[in-house]
Amino acid sequence: MKTIYDLNLKQLEEMLAGYGQKPYRAKQLFTWLYRKRAMSFSEMTDLPAALIEKLSAEYAIMPVKELTRQVSKDGTIKFLLQLMDGSSVEAVLMHFHFGDSLCVTSQVGCNMGCTFCASGLLKKQRDLSAGEMVGEVMYVQKQLDEMERRVDNIVIMGTGEPFDNYDNVINFCSIVNSDLGLAIGARHITISTCGIVPKIREFAQGHYQYNLAISLHAPNNELREKIMPIDRAYPLDILMEALRDYSENNHRRLTFEYILLSGVNDSDAHAMQLADLIRGMNAYVNLIPYNEVDENGYRSVNEKKALHFYDVLMKHGVKATLRQKHGDDIDAACGQLRAKHEMGKK
Ligand code: SAH
Repeated sequence: MKTIYDLNLKQLEEMLAGYGQKPYRAKQLFTWLYRKRAMSFSEMTDLPAALIEKLSAEYAIMPVKELTRQVSKDGTIKFLLQLMDGSSVEAVLMHFHFGDSLCVTSQVGCNMGCTFCASGLLKKQRDLSAGEMVGEVMYVQKQLDEMERRVDNIVIMGTGEPFDNYDNVINFCSIVNSDLGLAIGARHITISTCGIVPKIREFAQGHYQYNLAISLHAPNNELREKIMPIDRAYPLDILMEALRDYSENNHRRLTFEYILLSGVNDSDAHAMQLADLIRGMNAYVNLIPYNEVDENGYRSVNEKKALHFYDVLMKHGVKATLRQKHGDDIDAACGQLRAKHEMGKK
């Protein structure tokens, strides 16, 4: 059975037209789902009984159920959620002074093979549908409703490569962004990619207002292709050209994510190369402390080193920020998500 969350407003209209229903019914249904957060069609008292019956027979609503949750000492919550086919995914809720951010998973496993990342240890099993990603958000929103809080920001930075699941991710964004529903502003939604150039170009063509973040992690091809296999398919010069075009045509600021890996990409020379690559662009670098994972030998830099790297960038004309860790004590931080549950089954 499919989840009704898969359908955006237009698709709901089309589906309901097939049942001989007027377009306003789609808006009613959409409001029930996302404003009133209905969990069954039978609650939708202003819909005709025959329609409720049809919808109940054809569609599920909530496509995820909670298996476990872990709460970090900083308040971050990692939810392990089971999808209808039995696969499991993780979603991470972080509480900031500016609101609640949810890190959403876009695929079961990941094929990008970045050597430092634990989320890719399980190869891609399948893409998540738009509705399954909406399910992650709605499930967490239901928990927040009890505290009168809301999902203010979404980052598609969980397991998976969003641009390897492009159509579903864009559809997901349009559903959570819709004014009639959760109305999460486009500028509060960030898509992060390891650099799939044709999809960056397609995204640029769409003139979306969602934020784009690029996992860069190395300032030259020699190093980047060693730690991120995607660099062999789309080397840095091709990637940077696509990003420059995107940023200029869309007037949007880009975020470059850069993990500091001790002894690998953290020297002054690396910082200067990185500055040369980015200077002049409407962009900034988000320096990410590396979260150590058991399965590889990478080590994090200390804070002093991170601050020094930051200084070198700033001195060479590139804006940077240092990201705070969230939930690393419960393996919920960047690159630590792995459906342990899923891998245990193998
Ligand atoms: N595939 C997409 C979405 C994942 S975002 C992408 O690559 O952008 C998750 C971010 O965390 C990426 O920037 C990823 O490179 C980074 N990351 C992976 N492993 C990490 C680790 N162990 N510590 C810190 N960041 C990590």
